[in-house]
Amino acid sequence: MVRINEHYLKLQASYLFSDIAKRISAFQKAHPDREIIRLGIGDVTRPLPYVCIEAFHRAVDEMARESTFRGYGPEQGYAFLREKIAAQDFQARGADISADEIFVSDGAKCDTGNIQEIFAADAKIAVPDPVYPVYADTNVMAGRTGVFADGRYENLVYMDSTKENGFVPSLPQQPVDLIYLCFPNNPTGATITKAQLKTWVDFARENKAVILFDAAYERFIQDDSLPRSIYEIEGAREVAIEFRSFSKTAGFTGTRCAYTVVPETCMAYDSSGGKHSLRNLWNRRHTTKFNSVSYPVQRAAEAIYSDEGKAQVQDLIDYYMKNAAVIREEMTALGFDVAGGENAPYIWVDGKTDSWKFFDMLLEKAGVVCTPGAGFGKCGEGFIRISAFNTFENVRKALKKIREVKF
Ligand code: PLP
Repeated sequence: MVRINEHYLKLQASYLFSDIAKRISAFQKAHPDREIIRLGIGDVTRPLPYVCIEAFHRAVDEMARESTFRGYGPEQGYAFLREKIAAQDFQARGADISADEIFVSDGAKCDTGNIQEIFAADAKIAVPDPVYPVYADTNVMAGRTGVFADGRYENLVYMDSTKENGFVPSLPQQPVDLIYLCFPNNPTGATITKAQLKTWVDFARENKAVILFDAAYERFIQDDSLPRSIYEIEGAREVAIEFRSFSKTAGFTGTRCAYTVVPETCMAYDSSGGKHSLRNLWNRRHTTKFNSVSYPVQRAAEAIYSDEGKAQVQDLIDYYMKNAAVIREEMTALGFDVAGGENAPYIWVDGKTDSWKFFDMLLEKAGVVCTPGAGFGKCGEGFIRISAFNTFENVRKALKKIREVKF
C-alpha cells in the first residue's frame, strides 16, 4: 500500500486569497454596479521593459536558425547572465560574490521553498511572523514541525515583527539552525539597517547557523545607506544564502526568472562535525533536479543590465514607488499608523481593529480590496497590507474613495 507524506496533512489550507475572492464575489453580487479596485495584489501591472522584449525577440529568432539554435543550457544559468549579476548586483556594491556562486532559476518562490532540502531533517527553523508563507509551509512538508495549534506550527521558532520593534524581529532566544529573513519585507514593507543585519550575521556565526535572506524586493530600496544584499555585511559569505528575483524588479512575474546566491565559503556540518560547502550541495541538487531557465528568458533578464535596461527598470520602480508614496501619505493623513512604502512596494497599515473587519469595511464603503494582515501570521492581526502594484490611475481613484469613508 502506497502511503502519502503525512506531513502534508498538517498544512493549513491557505484560506487567505480564496476568502478574499469569496467576499469580493458576494459584494459584486449584492452591488453589481459598483466598481472594485484591487490594492491587495502582489502581482505587477506594468509590462516588461522594452529592452527585455527586444532581447526576447532576438533570442527567439536565434532558436529558429540551425546555426544559432540552443538546446540544454548550463543548469546553473548562462555565463552571460551570471557574470552580469555578479558584477553589477554585488561587486559594484562592494559585495564579494562571483559568477560561479550564482544559480539562475525560474523563481524565488521555488528557491526559497527548495533550499531547505540540503539541510538536516531535524534542523531547527526560525521564521518571521508575519511571514511569506512559503518558508513555513515547505518546512512543514519536510517534517520539521509539529501540528498547527493556536495559529502556529509546533517546533517552529516564530520571530515576532511588531510595531514595537519596528517590524525587525529580535534575535532568537534559543539556538536555531536556519533563519529566514526577508528585507524589504513582504508584507510589512520594513527594511533593516546594516548595523541591525550585522547582529544577525554575528548571531549566525556564533551559533553555526545559516541565514536564508530573501531580497526579492531590494530594487525598491530608495535609501542608499540600507543594505541591498546581505553580502554587504562583513562575515555574511560564511553564513548566508540570498534569494533575488526579476519578478517585481522588471515585471517578470509571468516570464519567470530569479537567482540564488550560495557562496562557496558558506558552510554547514555533518553529524561528525565535518564542514561542507553549501555551494557544492546546492549545485548537486540544482544539476540533478533542474535544467535552468529558457535561453530567451535569460537573454531578456540580461537586458536589464544594459544602460538602457537600467533606465527602464528605474522607470518601473519609480512608477510603483510613486504609488506607494501616495498611499502612505493619504493613509497617514486619515490618521492611521503606517509602516513600509518608503523602501518597499507594500504599505502596512494599523487598522486599529480586526484585520478582516477592516477589509470588509474598505470593500463595502469604498469598493477597495486590501489584504488582511492576519493572513500572514498571528502578528499580522490588526493590520492590512496595501500594495503599490496597481496602476497610478487606480491607486488615485481608490484613495479618493477611501477618503470619502467615515472611519
Ligand atoms: N519572496 C517574496 C518575499 C515574495 O513576496 C515573492 C512573491 O510575491 C517571492 C519571493 C516570489 O518571487 P518569484 O516570482 O521570483 O517566485
